[in-house]
Amino acid sequence: MNLLIMGAPGSGKGTMSERLCKEYELLHISTGDLLREAVKSQSEVGLKAKDYMDKGLLVPDEVIHQIIFERLKKDDAKKGFLMDGYPRTLAQAEDLDGLCKDLGIKIDAILQLDLDEEVIAKRITGRRVCKNCGTTYHISNNPSKVEGVCDVCGGELYTRGDDTLESLKTRLCEYEKSTKPLLDYYRDHVSIEHIDGDGTIDEVFTLIKGALGKIS
Ligand code: ADP
Ligand code: ADP
Ligand code: ZN
Repeated sequence: MNLLIMGAPGSGKGTMSERLCKEYELLHISTGDLLREAVKSQSEVGLKAKDYMDKGLLVPDEVIHQIIFERLKKDDAKKGFLMDGYPRTLAQAEDLDGLCKDLGIKIDAILQLDLDEEVIAKRITGRRVCKNCGTTYHISNNPSKVEGVCDVCGGELYTRGDDTLESLKTRLCEYEKSTKPLLDYYRDHVSIEHIDGDGTIDEVFTLIKGALGKIS
């Protein structure tokens, strides 16, 4: 099974991806995570992407092309994947269609997480991420057992530099302008499952499993 999970920043894509990939043994491909790793290691891609990410702007399509193709070349991508935060522009969606054709695979469904902007703002400002393993927490909705310390690996939790209300404004504009219209692009060739993202983590996950039960 090959899936895309889409939705505004902070709508729960990463959190749901973590659970889905465990349950359905999919490879989690998050362009945001890949880019943050590239920035941390100061690779060529990282140096190109950093300024855009700091400003909340989309990283240019050719940079994203490079990281996605590198990732999909590895053998583990054959078992089925869940793309999180990709594609985000029409050029990326067309790129992915071409790639799927070359590899002889198809996208089985799109999970679209719907959530209002007021809830999104609370999710983004309360997000904390493990510096070491990337596990995501929320200060009130999904706190770690010990404040500031990752339950999984004991790593230190931090607030992403772009998780400010100011950057969120830019990211939401980018989402409305470039990413949300992709639903129209996909409508005629991929099944889109709209999921109400405004529930507890368990509730949203149950809705997703129900939606996947219908298509698989
Ligand atoms: P969010 O939690 O806002 O959905 P991500 O971790 O997915 O954030 O992405 C963080 C940043 O990385 C984005 O604001 C953007 O700068 C960059 N980015 C991630 N994925 C893409 C993509 N597919 N195309 C362009 N830029 C991307
Ligand atoms: P995205 O990847 O779409 O940017 P995340 O999965 O990182 O979103 O979620 C954003 C924040 O909201 C995180 O702090 C996460 O712990 C929290 N969160 C995710 N899903 C839920 C939910 N259903 N209810 C409450 N908080 C949630
Ligand atoms: Zn950790």
